Amino acid sequence: MWLLIAIGCGGTRSTAVSAPPLPEQRATNVILLIGDGMGLAQITAGMYRNGNRLHLESFEVVGLHKTYAADNLVTDSAAGATAFACGVKTYNGAIGVNVDTMAVTTLLEEAEARGMATGLAATSTIVHATPAAFVAHVAHRHMYEDIAEWFLRNEVDCFVGGGWKYFAERQKDQRNLIDELEQKGYVVGSWRTHRFADMPLDASANMAFFTAQDDPPRKLDGRDDYLIDAATRLPRFLKQRSDKGFFLMIEGSQIDWGGHAVDAAYIVSEMIEFDEAIGRALAFAKEDGHTLVVVTADHETGGFSINPGSTQDTIVAGFSSFYDADHKRGAHTAAMVPVFAWGPGAELFRGIYENTAIHDKIRQALGWQ
Ligand SMILES: [Zn+2]
Repeated sequence: MWLLIAIGCGGTRSTAVSAPPLPEQRATNVILLIGDGMGLAQITAGMYRNGNRLHLESFEVVGLHKTYAADNLVTDSAAGATAFACGVKTYNGAIGVNVDTMAVTTLLEEAEARGMATGLAATSTIVHATPAAFVAHVAHRHMYEDIAEWFLRNEVDCFVGGGWKYFAERQKDQRNLIDELEQKGYVVGSWRTHRFADMPLDASANMAFFTAQDDPPRKLDGRDDYLIDAATRLPRFLKQRSDKGFFLMIEGSQIDWGGHAVDAAYIVSEMIEFDEAIGRALAFAKEDGHTLVVVTADHETGGFSINPGSTQDTIVAGFSSFYDADHKRGAHTAAMVPVFAWGPGAELFRGIYENTAIHDKIRQALGWQ
């Protein structure tokens, strides 16, 4: 499928200023973990509320990236994830397309074309902007049913997230994409019958698990540990799927939603869960020895601050960014966000660079020409 995708010529694909050093050792597998809306204050609040400890502290390399989009200094998750997936700065709302709405091959598609196994997991719907930008090419992020169709075209080995209705209860046509996935050989599970933790994983078939009809609930409202389970189980599943390695993207989607809700408890609960998922990915990488783990955010959300009067147990939160002051809704901000890397090629992620460089550095760590 990927061969049919045009590489747009109107984008602003980033180019290295000077030839970066080659990684000391080539990565076979990549786990990219994206904390949506995860700025430094979100990480800090999660750390203090978690007993002053995070798995993030064990990463050997830390960098910063510039989050801006092609058309706006303040990016959204669609342009942010497209920068990671495709290596191009594009407009807010774009999913896997450049500023001229031309499809640009994603890291996941390139991995598939190279015979690697691929996976996606998120605490949003699986058609939400961040996972979508790795698998789909559509002009706008809200084209959820169109994005769902891309899961039939790009045969991702495994995916876990919400959004059942965009596959099975469609408005635009009568297709049942769950049936179509099964016809393609997918084993499909859902929250209706069991938890992801209880789904047997058989590496001889592709796997999809739906965690909700639409958006999965908040951690505060009892969402189960499926993201942590995905970070634990999917690397092992994917390793069995191909001897050429794998690419896995895991998103802590709702850190961002906590920022939009200007709700520190929401942010902290999602941050701590995401860090536990990071810990599971890191544990796999340490055992495996050939896996690069990269953790970053697409942008900060809320202008979140930890204000005077805070203790490690009680965060006195401030939110400086509103797009709807009447309804107390936080907006994204343009502050740089951190990047954490561990494993072969990790040293490439030191310093300050564009968000598009995440794409380029992952390719370089994998030794792709
Ligand atoms: Zn957001």
